[in-house]
Amino acid sequence: MSDQLFSIAQQNVLITGGSRGIGRAIAQGFAERGANVAICSVNPESVKATVEQFASAGLTIHGFTCDVQKPTEIQSCAQHAIEHFGQIHSLINVAGVNRRKRAEQVSEDDYDFILDTNLKGAFLMCQTIGRHMIEHKSGTIINVESLNTWMPLKGVLPYAISKFGMQGMTRGLAMEWARHGIRVNSLAPGFILTDLTEKLWSDPVMQEWNSANCPMGRLGTPDDMVGTAVFLASKASAFMTGQTLYVDGGCSSGWNWPIPLQ
Ligand code: NAP
Repeated sequence: MSDQLFSIAQQNVLITGGSRGIGRAIAQGFAERGANVAICSVNPESVKATVEQFASAGLTIHGFTCDVQKPTEIQSCAQHAIEHFGQIHSLINVAGVNRRKRAEQVSEDDYDFILDTNLKGAFLMCQTIGRHMIEHKSGTIINVESLNTWMPLKGVLPYAISKFGMQGMTRGLAMEWARHGIRVNSLAPGFILTDLTEKLWSDPVMQEWNSANCPMGRLGTPDDMVGTAVFLASKASAFMTGQTLYVDGGCSSGWNWPIPLQ
């Protein structure tokens, strides 16, 4: 990249949930811009397939299997990544899951599954890599939140709780770690077409609702997330920490109400 302000070249980056969807697009976007990228995700087949697909496209990306619900796996993934790179400059917490149910039907297992992955897993990963970044007195962490951080959607309460919690975590870590040269920010995607949401957005009623209510009138793509992640990992955002950037086609800008206008 010619503009050094936005350069992420030579950065060593660890991306959780990098095997599919948004994490995969960010991994590719970073690797194409000269970053050294490692991804991790829960399913070994998924990691292997993604690493191989990148390799066949000429991109060398390292892959680790890691279930972020399991603290011991977080420890060993972080250790492997640190051993592999020597220093990790950026951590991007993308791994996330959801189950859609009415609040009164959410089981304890649903709650734990979602919170342990989306929030506890991200916190333990921040803590583990954060200790390493503190030693090096520098680092950038990007947490992937959601439109649910701004306003909870009906039927996904544990997910919304996890993303509200993630925003609190982002701000709290920013407060504590700025003195160590570590910046912590969040990227909050809007409605993005991925494996996580494919079924939802195959419903014509949902498609119509999005066209009518999202100011930009379309679903986002995983590639739409890359620019903001690059910005948050680069010097271009050097005086920014504890912030959430919504990348949502304008969905969080306001309400679209049916007021009759000429
Ligand atoms: P996705 O396509 O379903 O991909 C999910 C990723 O998370 C996969 O790489 C998956 O790995 C990984 N993962 C799941 N459970 C894990 C675990 N226990 N440990 C480690 N990795 C795990 O989802 P996506 O739509 O790209 O979503 C990615 C993030 O963006 C999530 O945090 C989600 O909440 C957030 N987000 C998405 C949208 C949207 O509209 N899509 C909107 C707002 C926010 P495997 O391949 O190994 O299963």
